[in-house]
Formats: sequence, C-alpha cells, structure tokens
Amino acid sequence: MIMYDINQIRTDFPILGRTVYGKPLVYLDNGATTQKPRQVVEAISNEYYNTNANVHRGVHFLSQQATELHEASRETVRRFINARSTNEIVFTRGTTESINLLAATFCQSQMQAGDEVIVSTMEHHSNIVPWQLQAMQRGITLRVIPMDDEGNLLLEEYEQLFSPKTKLVSIAHVSNVLGTVNPVREMIATAHAHGVPVLVDGAQSIPHMPVDVQALDTDFYVFSGHKVYGPTGVGVLYGKEKWLDKLPPYQGGGEMIQHVSFEKTTFNELPFKFEAGTPDYIGTTGLAKALDYVSALGMEQIAAYEHELTQYALGRLMEIPDMRIFGQAKERGGVISFLVGHIHHFDMGTLLDRLGIAVRTGHHCAQPLMTRLGIEGTVRASFGLYNTKEEVDALVAGIDRVRKMF
Ligand code: PMP
Repeated sequence: MIMYDINQIRTDFPILGRTVYGKPLVYLDNGATTQKPRQVVEAISNEYYNTNANVHRGVHFLSQQATELHEASRETVRRFINARSTNEIVFTRGTTESINLLAATFCQSQMQAGDEVIVSTMEHHSNIVPWQLQAMQRGITLRVIPMDDEGNLLLEEYEQLFSPKTKLVSIAHVSNVLGTVNPVREMIATAHAHGVPVLVDGAQSIPHMPVDVQALDTDFYVFSGHKVYGPTGVGVLYGKEKWLDKLPPYQGGGEMIQHVSFEKTTFNELPFKFEAGTPDYIGTTGLAKALDYVSALGMEQIAAYEHELTQYALGRLMEIPDMRIFGQAKERGGVISFLVGHIHHFDMGTLLDRLGIAVRTGHHCAQPLMTRLGIEGTVRASFGLYNTKEEVDALVAGIDRVRKMF
C-alpha cells in the first residue's frame, strides 16, 4: 500500500509529532486545513529574514528579488494546474475570495436581471452565498442540480436546467462533506454545448489529485493555499484569458492600474488588473513551495495512496454497529462524513478529541446539503497525504469507545 516513505514524510510535518491531552495527535481534519511541511515554513521565514521588500514597484535589489520570487510562484502555480499562461493566474486570499471576485465581476458585466447561475445541492456556502449576494442586487436566479441518496449529482436533471437565461455553472470538483468527485469534465462539456462557461471550486480537489485545467477545459478554477499544505491567506483564481479580459476589475487600488487621473483611470493588464494592493508575496512563496512539495511526491501517487487509505477506512468504519456514512458516490475522495446511532455529532467530536483525534463536526458550511440529507450535521474525518492506517485504526477504536459510553 505504501507508495512513498510515509514515516519520512511525517518527519517533514513537525506538528504531527505532538501530543494533545497526553495522547499522540491523530489529525483527521485536512478538509478544513492541512498541516505545513518544514519546507514551506522555512521558505516563509527565509523570505522574511532575507528577501522581504514590497514587490513590483521597487528599483532596489531586494524589491526586485522579492518580485522575482513572487512571479516565479505564479509560474509554479501555472505549471501545477497546466494553465496556458501566467496571465491566467490571479492571486487571491483563497477560494472564497476567488468566488466572490468572479461572482461580482461576472454578474456585473455578463448578466442581467432574470439570468441564471447553476450550482449544485452539495456546494459549500462559499459557492452559494456570493451568488445570492449578486442575486439580491441584480435580480439573477440560482438553479440547483439535485443529487441521489448516494451523493451523485443527477446529470439528466442538470441538463434540463439549461435555458437561454443560463449564464454560468459553478460547481464543486469534490464535495467537502460527501467526498463525491463530481464528473466535472463531462459537466463542463454539457455546459459548453449550451454555450455556458463553468467555474470549478477546486478547494477539495487540488490537494488530492492531478488537476489539468486545459484537459478539463474549465473556464475558471479556484483553490486555497492552506488546503494544499501551503500557508493561509493566499489562493488562486484561474480563468481563461478570453474570459478574464472581458471582466472588469474587482477592487481598486495600487497595482491594478495603468494610469490614474481624476478625469480618467486606466487599468493594468492581466493578471494585475485583479490584484489591487500589496499582494501576499510571502504567501505566494509558501504556496509555490507547497506545490513543489506535493509535485515531488507526485499527485498520482498521493491520489493512489489516499484512495487506498480511504477504502481501508470505509471498510473499517462499516464494522461499527449503527454506523451511517453519508456519501457513497461512485467516485469518492478521502472525506468521510458519518453518524453513529443517536450520538450527536458534537458529542462524538468532543469525545474523540479527548482521545487525541481531531475530526470536524457540524454542517461543514453546507447547510442546504444537510437539509437534503435530513440531518443537522455529521462527524467528518478527512485525510491528507500523511495519514496512516494506524490512524484510521485509532479513529475506529475511538468511535467504538464513544459508542459504548452511550
Ligand atoms: N469550497 C469548498 C468545497 C471548501 O471545502 C471550502 C473550505 N472548507 C471552501 C470552498 C472555502 O475555502 P476557504 O475558506 O479557504 O476560502
């Protein structure tokens, strides 16, 4: 099963060696955020210690070095997702800001009252509320792709949602609750057949599988650095140049302008048109290091390793009496949501925590999905590249122990 040296890898993540309540930490909350390898933390502190200067506008040595690092990071991101050009890589604060940026600029320039955006039942609030904010201001409507009880989107119903009013489809690549890997390539082809562009929310796919935006032919793809072993506060909006060119700036300020006068201001070229103010140039260095780190392991390898671990976990969890797993889609990733008997998710999470096991509980920022499932929340274990079978065993033993207390 082990396709890379897991023990060696774990030494790159010092936090995994710590204890909580005197127990070894079992970190199974990777869907919320991932731990950082030493290489990322060192790159960040190294830049602060040795190369820190504001980027792009400086003539002095340090500023030029910092700018080179920042722009080299953009190239690393481009390569990682196989974008055509660095003009298509916009740095943001994360998935949420990327979607808000797109919702605001796309709706403002490409949509009118009565037009529609298609999303799915299993979206994170980050891919619902930005569209609702636009809906309130501009009178646009959300149409929702339904799913079956296993957590597969219903593709025939999806196709029925298209009309001349449909202007955009915005869907998660991988569900942060069900683990479903949506058939985005096929869904993008369907949308394109109707002349409609697609945004893919890659928050839960970028850490777990190779992503090639050209092969997917997606128009937009967004993700957060912190979910792919990089720092918090930095993320990416990928957009095809032909689309980004059509969109107006999002925020105003330094960097995004070409020339400013009180009479008329002109805007910078891509991607800077969307990057107002000092960018998180230290964060982009950290993100690039994280992408280098996972690339060195190999995204295919990571996917295969996590797949085996997930299959093992699903098998072991199903041994537990009264176990209900939410999400049994044909294609699924390493996110497992569950409930056991009548034990409240919050009680389960709190008691597992006392055993050193970090899981997430609640609605996972997907309340419409909870409504669809007829529940308030779940316990969620989500794996990263460094998790082990022994940790799965600890989770199973922990759940069993909690179950016996009730
Ligand atoms: N979309 C999905 C599918 C997610 O899982 C998350 C994070 N839980 C987000 C969007 C939002 O990401 P962030 O908070 O990093 O902006």
